[in-house]
Order: sequence, then structure tokens, then C-alpha cells
Amino acid sequence: MATTKKLVEEARRIHNTTPVVTAALGRLLTAGAIMGATLKNETDLLTINIKGDGEVGGIVVTADNKARVKGYPHNSYVGIPLKANGKLDVSTALGHGELRVIKDIGLKEAVTGTIPLVSGEIAEDLTYYFAKSEQTPSSVALGVLVDRDFSVKQAGGFIIQLMPNAEEELITHLEALLPDLPSVTTMLENSLSPEDIVYKLFPTQKINIHNKIEPTFYCNCSREKMTKALIALGKKELQTIKKEDQKATLNCQFCNEEQTYREEDLEKIIKDL
Ligand code: ZN
Repeated sequence: MATTKKLVEEARRIHNTTPVVTAALGRLLTAGAIMGATLKNETDLLTINIKGDGEVGGIVVTADNKARVKGYPHNSYVGIPLKANGKLDVSTALGHGELRVIKDIGLKEAVTGTIPLVSGEIAEDLTYYFAKSEQTPSSVALGVLVDRDFSVKQAGGFIIQLMPNAEEELITHLEALLPDLPSVTTMLENSLSPEDIVYKLFPTQKINIHNKIEPTFYCNCSREKMTKALIALGKKELQTIKKEDQKATLNCQFCNEEQTYREEDLEKIIKDL
């Protein structure tokens, strides 16, 4: 269970997203924060990549086991009419496409799982991903409430996964409870804390909360990494840039941080190659 208002608002500010994109990006960032926190090692990295034929085009989110997440939409400026029920239409904004989860956990090759988008509302798609790719029955709830001034009013979510030895009684309880459970943002609006929501989900269980971390929007980009990206263009391309533009400006997709290389910087990089 996570509340992610602060980090989703930060993402909205960085990417200047319209409400439907704020909701889509915020839901995926929230899922990333929760899934990231389940990674074992500090160096493990989780990436969730959605590609769709809707106006947003896609969203990329990465997370580590400290629930530090970053993400960006392909297109921040999408205006789509609200659904008949007054909700933001994330499903139409994303369209048809696929969702891929990539876990880089220090193995020779990253572990990946890909599913077609089944609803485009993200929570349902992740539920399907867990069932299909990880063979884990799950319930995923994600929500972002956008305020009148377009800032993030509430954001959060939970992922419930059944252990192989889960009692039948517990499963029956969840199956009865979940369809009637208010949305995460409604519960947060009613001042319920993440702990309150967990207790509400499992009223008869003895709950041990043994790991509390604050999810944050965090980007680890640096000039050094940007320089590497520049070097990857190759000597010839760099010489052309130097001749034609006399400078190069690189932009981090995740946090919009900019790095500028002046003519003499480019000269030095070319010389070192
Ligand atoms: Zn960055």
C-alpha cells in the first residue's frame, strides 16, 4: 500500500501533464513504487513500459527497492473528454497496446514479461500481468485524484497478492470485500492512512507492518551519463554537430534536466575519442 501524492505531484510539475496524463502517469508511478519496494537488492531495477496507440503514446516508469521512482509519458499534452461517469479516461488516452515489465536483478539477462493491454486503466492490466507472467493471483488498485487547479489532490494504491498457502476463508473474504471497497482516492479523501486501509482490507487478520518507506520521485541522471550518450553518437556525428550548431543540448526524459555542451566541450570529447 502506498500514498504517492507528493511524488505524483512532482512528476506532474516536471512533465507539465494534462489531467488525464497525470492520472495515467501517477497510477503507473504508484505501481512502480510498490513493485519496486518488493525487489530484494539495492541495485535491482524495475521498469514498466506501456506502449499504446492512444494519444499519450506510452509511459515509462522505473523504480528501485527504496521506492524511488521516475517516469515520463511520451506525450504530456493530451485532452480527452471525461467518461460518462465523470472520471478521467485513461483507457482511451493509452489506447490499445502492450505492457512490459522488466526486472534487472543482476542476472545475465533481465527478466521480462509482456502482456497486451486488457483495459488500459493500468490496475486491471497489472492484475492480468501478475496472473499471466508471474502466475500470482493479485488485486491491484491504483488511483489519482486531480484537483480543479490540475494539481494532484490524492494518489495511492495497493497490490494484494495471494501466497500459495493462503486460506480459503481469506480468499472468500477478499472476493466479497473488494468489489464494494471504495476507491483508494475516496478512502484517502476520507483521511484514511495507508495503515487504516490495510486494516480495512484485513479486519480479522493479525497484521504486521514491518517495512515503511517513503516513495519519492528520484532521477539519477548526471552530466557524466549524458556525456556517455553523446560519445555514443560517434566521432563523425559529433564533428558535424560542432560544425553546424557549435553546441549540443541534451535533455533527460525522466526529469527534464538539461545539459549543455559548448563548442570547447565538444572539442574535448572529440579529442578524447
Ligand atoms: Zn534525469
